[in-house]
Amino acid sequence: MNRLTAVDLHDGLAVETVVYPYGTVCISSQAGCRMACPFCASGRKGLVRSLTAEEMLLQVETAPSAKRVTVSGIGEPLDNFDEVARFIALCPLPVSVTTTASSTELLKKLLLLPHNGVMISIHGGTEEAHKKLVPKAPPLIEIYSALASAWEQMSVRARKRVGLNYLPVAGINDSEEEIELFAQAALKFPESSVHLLSLNKVPNSPFQPVSHARRDEIFQLLRGQGINVRRANAFRRQEKGGCGTLWLKKYID
Ligand code: SF4
Repeated sequence: MNRLTAVDLHDGLAVETVVYPYGTVCISSQAGCRMACPFCASGRKGLVRSLTAEEMLLQVETAPSAKRVTVSGIGEPLDNFDEVARFIALCPLPVSVTTTASSTELLKKLLLLPHNGVMISIHGGTEEAHKKLVPKAPPLIEIYSALASAWEQMSVRARKRVGLNYLPVAGINDSEEEIELFAQAALKFPESSVHLLSLNKVPNSPFQPVSHARRDEIFQLLRGQGINVRRANAFRRQEKGGCGTLWLKKYID
């Protein structure tokens, strides 16, 4: 079972952190999030403030047996770039980061830091689908262009640590056309992998996950194109799986 912890901050805020049984701790980089992706609970209250590197380390300390860290909880890490970069430098464990590429210039910088992985939330083959799920992110064409520019400067080892995240949502981005266009874009970064995520339902969200059968079809479609595709594991598919389900807790309303 995942262990969900609300980590208290000095000003009465608390952010949720998830410890997965396989040795990964998922931490938050901000209290709230301005990105307001409509399938996600974490951005519902907007951004309250960014966390310091020390507050990120505090979350890691709640998981003494963790072997690695993912900055995939509440917040857009690029909106707090300096502190996230400082955290990567200070953290004794390998750190991966999940981002919507809210700033393409900072995405390029992040890709060149000594991270253990950068997962970019794409979630669409067309710009229309991408905009529906990540409305405040730059257009896909700009994200891929920034990735291509950093790619030139990255070693093969670093390239293998880049993931393109795809969250299939029923009726939004699960058509053959969407998957085909996404696959064409992903194939331009051949050492990268695709992470096929699962939508965890949050209250009052109109978005529905695709069926298990459709998810398997999408997996096979991507694999059939020669893409290194991985599925979210069972722990991330739990109700408190972390992806999009974490809440900012504010004790001083
Ligand atoms: S998915 Fe990430 S970037 Fe989007 S609102 Fe949630 S925490 Fe923010």
